Order: sequence, then structure tokens, then C-alpha cells
Amino acid sequence: MTVLVPSGILTPEGIVTGKAVAFERTIVAVDTPGALSARFPDAEVLTSESPTLLMPGLINSHVHLEFSANKSTLHYGNFVTWLYSVIEHRESLINRCDRECLDQTVRTMLHNGITAFGAVSSHGMDLEAAAAAPQKVVFFNEVIGSQAAMADALYNDFLQRLDSSKAVARPGFFPAVAIHSPYSVHPALIKRALRVANDEQLLTTAHFLESPAEREWLDANSGAFKPFFNDLLKQDYAVNDAMGFLELFADTPTLMTHVVHAESDELIRLAQDGHTVIHCPVSNRLLGNGAIDLDRLEAQKLKWLTGTDGLSSNYGLDLFEEMKIALFMHSETDLLPLAQQLLNSVTVDAAAALRLNGGRIAEEKDADMLWLELDHEPNTQTPLHLLLHQYDLLQIFIDGSAQKG
Ligand SMILES: [Zn+2]
Repeated sequence: MTVLVPSGILTPEGIVTGKAVAFERTIVAVDTPGALSARFPDAEVLTSESPTLLMPGLINSHVHLEFSANKSTLHYGNFVTWLYSVIEHRESLINRCDRECLDQTVRTMLHNGITAFGAVSSHGMDLEAAAAAPQKVVFFNEVIGSQAAMADALYNDFLQRLDSSKAVARPGFFPAVAIHSPYSVHPALIKRALRVANDEQLLTTAHFLESPAEREWLDANSGAFKPFFNDLLKQDYAVNDAMGFLELFADTPTLMTHVVHAESDELIRLAQDGHTVIHCPVSNRLLGNGAIDLDRLEAQKLKWLTGTDGLSSNYGLDLFEEMKIALFMHSETDLLPLAQQLLNSVTVDAAAALRLNGGRIAEEKDADMLWLELDHEPNTQTPLHLLLHQYDLLQIFIDGSAQKG
């Protein structure tokens, strides 16, 4: 048993002081330091001279490990231009991210306090690295392909990758299903993949209404996607419209990534069907997609998380940085409540959406925790300062085991 005595604990409602935490693999008790030392006299006690904070480990709900070799290869500023550059450099990017590159990416996330992540895997090249990661991993096997003639082959390839991920037998690794997007996956393929997900109770994710070009293509079969689909796939029209796509997911609560360009009726539908939005602020900015309106999501009581997306559309995989960017991006929203909501979006809310037993410093939760050194005694503004200052992580715990030597 370990008893950790911080100056404050971050909870979904704000900062709590005067409490300590007893933990093994899971959190056994949260009580006053005196009560815990009486109850666990033989426990190892962790304490610090300087002010410290204990908070849940961060959960990155959306990342693409396979594209981690990108730094300055891809073209930023416009979604469709970026997509052409992805297609041009896809092979070399994936080949350049070997096992060492993947492991390094996983280590970087851990170093940044990320104790769980949802990895969208296009090819399964990242399976071994994800399986060996110290973090909890939801491994989303992605299905993509808009041509009906290819559906059988693509579906079989998806099933094979899914089977490989199901063969990973370690606690904290969860096989799951990703549908790439409404513009890139034929509805017949979506139905088949979702049937597997529903039958096997696998978590699902999809990209949805990320760019203005996607909006125009789904609504009117026009815009910058038209020459893209004409030239590359001899395709004249979108295989789904936005609402038709959502109808396919009516019985499958899904993590919908981006959702920057959704209309009100789509937001209502997303909330009704129990979906969760993943907001990726840096990626949206770099690909010229604009800023999601979080207040509109809140108005529909639509749940939302914050994710980094992959290094194909980000300069780092750091949720503290991501939250700071979001704080400034949504400049009309009340500052302190937004800071707390952002913290919840990568802890308690992300755990609920990814079906993880963490995200909160509370009894019976997994002891996935960050112990930070502060420069002040914790107070009501501490959630804001957590985003503004890169506080040192004294220790990172996953299932109660210390990750820093
Ligand atoms: Zn993505």
C-alpha cells in the first residue's frame, strides 16, 4: 500500500485540499492523512516539501500512431491540399515510422502525462507497439473505402486486423472499430463493420464533418472534394450524406471526431443517439478547418472530449498544450469554467466515453494518476494554472505502478 499526501487533489468539481490517497493497483481510500496513516500504518508514504497536486492521468482519445514520422512533410493550411499530400507521402511516412519511432511516440505521450490513449490504426503497423505500451490502449481498427466493388476485400482485411488485435492478451488493451468518415466509407461497409462492433460490444469511432470541403461534398456533391474523387476514384457523388451517415450509427454510441461543421439538427441527433464529440483544436487549426463551437455542443448537452489527433496534423502529442490552445481558441467562453471542462474532457469524461475505470481520484478507480509540483498552494484558480504552466510531473502512476525511475 502507498499513501500519497498532496497539497490538493483535482476533482471534476475543482480542487480539494486536506485529503490524501491510499492506493495499490486501484485507489483504496481517499481520506485525511491522519485517518489513512492510522488505517495503513505500514504503507509507504509519499510526500513533498513543496506544494503538489494529484490528478488523474490524461486520456488522449484520438491519435494516429502510424503517421508519427511526419514533422514537416505534410502540407498544412487547407484540408484537401493536406489530403493530397498525405496520399503522396503515405508510403514513405509509414515506412519511416518503424518500431523505434512508434515506441518513441508512445514514450513521449507517457512523458506528457498521458496514461491512456485511443489509437486509430489504418494498417495495423502500430499493433505491436500499442500492445507493448505501458498505457491503457483502445485500439481502433479502421475501415476505409468508398467503392462498392472493393467492399469485400476491405472488409476481410479489416476483420483480419481486428482478429490480430483481439489476440493481444494484456489487461488494459481493448480492440475497437473505426469507420474512417462519411466521405470515405461505403454504407454497405459501414453496416458490416458496425454489426461486428455491436455483436462484440466493441467501442467505435469515426471522423465526422471535419472540413468545409467535406460539408460541401456531402451536401451537394461539389467543392474541393469533387476533383479529388473524380480524379482518384472516378467518383461523382458522395457515398453518404451527413444525416444518412448518422442514421447508420443510431444504435451505436460512437466517438465522433472533429464535428466542426455540423448543423444544429445534426448536433441534436448526435446528442439523442448518445454520441461523444472529440475536439482536436490544433489539428483543426493546422488543416484550415476552423474552430468548433463548444457552446453549441453544451447547449445540446452533447458530451465532448479533447484529443491531439496524430502527428500528421499536430506538432506534438501533449494534452496540456492542447488544452491551452483550446483555452485561447474559445476566447468568448468563461475562462475558469472552460479550464475545468477541458481538464474533465481528458480525464473523467474521456474515461466514461472510452469505458476505462479511471479518470478520477476516487475509491475503486484504477490508480492512473499524475503527481505534479506546483508553484503555489492549490486554490480555485489552479485548474487554469495547470493549463498555463508546464508543471513538472514528479511521478506518473499507471495501475499504481510508478513510471518514472
Ligand atoms: Zn484523426
